[in-house]
Amino acid sequence: MKLYSTNDLSSRVNFKEAVFNSMPQDKGLYMPVEISPLPQDFIDHLDKYTLPEIAYTVAKHMLQGAIPDGDLQALINDAINFDAPVVELEEDVYVLELFHGPSLAFKDFGARFMSRVMAYFLEAGEKQLDVLVATSGDTGGAVALGFLGVPNTRVTILYPKGKVSGMQEQQLTTNGQNIRALEVDGTFDDCQALVKQAFTDTELNEKFRLTSANSINIARLIPQTFYYFNAYAQLLRQGKNKVVFAVPSGNFGNIGAGLLAWKMGLPVQQFIAATNANDTVPEFLKTGVYQPKPTVATLSNAMDVSSPSNWVRIADLFKNDTEALKKLITGYSFNDEDTVKAIVKIFGAYKYVACPHTAIAWLALTDYMEKQDNGATGVFLSTAHPCKFPDVFPKQISKAVEIPEQVKNLSAKPKQATALKADFNEFKIYLLNN
Ligand SMILES: *Cc1c(COP(=O)(O)O)cnc(C)c1O
Repeated sequence: MKLYSTNDLSSRVNFKEAVFNSMPQDKGLYMPVEISPLPQDFIDHLDKYTLPEIAYTVAKHMLQGAIPDGDLQALINDAINFDAPVVELEEDVYVLELFHGPSLAFKDFGARFMSRVMAYFLEAGEKQLDVLVATSGDTGGAVALGFLGVPNTRVTILYPKGKVSGMQEQQLTTNGQNIRALEVDGTFDDCQALVKQAFTDTELNEKFRLTSANSINIARLIPQTFYYFNAYAQLLRQGKNKVVFAVPSGNFGNIGAGLLAWKMGLPVQQFIAATNANDTVPEFLKTGVYQPKPTVATLSNAMDVSSPSNWVRIADLFKNDTEALKKLITGYSFNDEDTVKAIVKIFGAYKYVACPHTAIAWLALTDYMEKQDNGATGVFLSTAHPCKFPDVFPKQISKAVEIPEQVKNLSAKPKQATALKADFNEFKIYLLNN
């Protein structure tokens, strides 16, 4: 498999380099040189395959031998060990639940796959891989649990003290083993600044093999294509073969993966990009002007992004054919008031509790389906389990949220975190001494 940078279409790196670099030197993003359609016979008979089988076939097609078949098979079976069911809410409206992994968010697909790919590529005798990650909440949990127990790797998470939810803090601080948490007396931006400075520090880079595991890594995007194929497979079993996907979007990695799946031949009628008040992309789709505004804080805070980092990948997929892009992707944006109303409506109509991100996708899908009568089945993606956002729900809905097994035991485990000032020297001394 060869990849190029979106800033230099003639550049070439192999998969291993792209995974360890995360981002090319020229600050573009890595894209596969070849994204060819899967065999039509496979697409037509997706209903015959399980999620791990689909994942293996899709990954093998994309990776083109970068990981030998047997190893890839084992890696997939280990990484993709939880389900992604589509649940019918009413005729032709389904929710694709992506929160059955260890951190209860779709980011588990990317984090688990990437951690295992990295461990696989670390050659015998190579230095341990040190992953540094700053988190405002969700990413840290997925990365921590994704790398937990993965040999030859160690994760250091920096999170802002008092600024993540109780459950998120438990997910970050109760792991032990190869995961350690630093509780930084500062903001998320402080955490991110400390991590960035560490990557440029000569002494730290000599002593450690540092990597960032952030969301723009191509190894996080590839496994997210799997569940689009698998959702389609489940619908095929119910005799449905026309589908639209509504995707709650922040950095646009999730919908970007959907578009990769489409490019590999998955027959999707339409993608719906659903955002909160951070509406750079919906505005662009409406007006043709791409103009990020300052980021605003919302209830769906995992989507509080005004300059989506994966947008360049999507633009690149369409080679700047804006008309084709606008035809395939419809944009919607909703505010917090809409979001809460949607949560109440979904609960009233289906006795189903949707997290705020998920509710925004449902709103977008509902509006789209009302206006569009193309006989398609609508699927909206549920990106996180509602129990991760306890403060958003009205009381009677809160009571209906079931707490999954993965987190029931967390509160019994002791918190292990090292307190740290937002000071680079202190951070550096910690790294050097531990
Ligand atoms: C990260 C996240 C999103 C946004 O996904 P992108 O790939 O960045 O668009 C949406 N919902 C939840 C719950 C998330 O954690």
